[in-house]
Amino acid sequence: MPEFHQPLSGMKTPRFAGLSTFMRLPHVPLEQAAGIEIGLIGVPWDGGTTNRPGPRHAPRQMRDQSSMLREYHHALEIAPFKLANCADLGDAPVNPADLMDTLERIGDFYKSVRDLGIRPLSAGGDHLVSLPILRALGAHEPLAMVHFDAHGDTWDDYFGGSKYTHGTPFRRAIEEGVLDPERTVQIGLRGSLYGPQDKRWALDQGIRILEIEECVALGTREVMDQARAVVGERPVYVSFDIDCLDPAFAPGTGTPEAGGFSTREAQTMLRHLRGLDITGADVVEVSPPFDPAGHTALVGVTMMYELLCLMAEQADRRR
Ligand code: MN
Ligand code: MN
Repeated sequence: MPEFHQPLSGMKTPRFAGLSTFMRLPHVPLEQAAGIEIGLIGVPWDGGTTNRPGPRHAPRQMRDQSSMLREYHHALEIAPFKLANCADLGDAPVNPADLMDTLERIGDFYKSVRDLGIRPLSAGGDHLVSLPILRALGAHEPLAMVHFDAHGDTWDDYFGGSKYTHGTPFRRAIEEGVLDPERTVQIGLRGSLYGPQDKRWALDQGIRILEIEECVALGTREVMDQARAVVGERPVYVSFDIDCLDPAFAPGTGTPEAGGFSTREAQTMLRHLRGLDITGADVVEVSPPFDPAGHTALVGVTMMYELLCLMAEQADRRR
């Protein structure tokens, strides 16, 4: 049995005590991260936000709320930290005064993570942070993606020519050849549009869009069967925008949309991804200023934990 990093147990040190890290794992700087299989990373940046900001504050609050999580998943019946060597790799470097420089810095950080053979599980940040991550992970082969969101995030530009916002990351990723649109599925879309043309581009690229009405009609199992059919057996990235959830469950986000998934539906759907080769994942758009009590951050790290369990199980199988 290899010596993996273990979370600080709530049975030994109370959950409110100690330094705040993701899931109470040790913080391991990237320079010392050789041998880590799954890296939990914060991306404290919201320079791509077009309306209500705040996700720059999410990694800290999500680390704090993640002290609620325990070491064994009751439904999957696995202990993820026994299956894979996991650590908190800290935050990706950002520059709150410069959007393009930030994309470079985040991208360079994730290239280092990739080159160390570490699979990243990230806490945003607004949704633009997925772009530099996909650039790093999809550099050699365009990735498949399962994308939970109230919005497609495939708009072309904002405010007369701004190409890099949290509403555009997946259009850029497809244009740059790091994301395979025909292996991309978007689940839960429902935000009002500027017009019917808004989803035309995505559909023309071959993205499978499951709007919320279709999800409700199909049920979670059929939705995920279809999602798995789209992404196939290839390495897949999972991007979870917290606004896919109904604002009743996740009010702390910049662009809430009524009529979304419950937290339980989201957990059920994520568990249906079991067995896929998840090359990386993120949970984005948690905005603490809109939810000072931290419930949305707790929901966010709970979704990260679901993803971590799937990634850890696969790491164990690969070994
Ligand atoms: Mn989004
Ligand atoms: Mn969204």
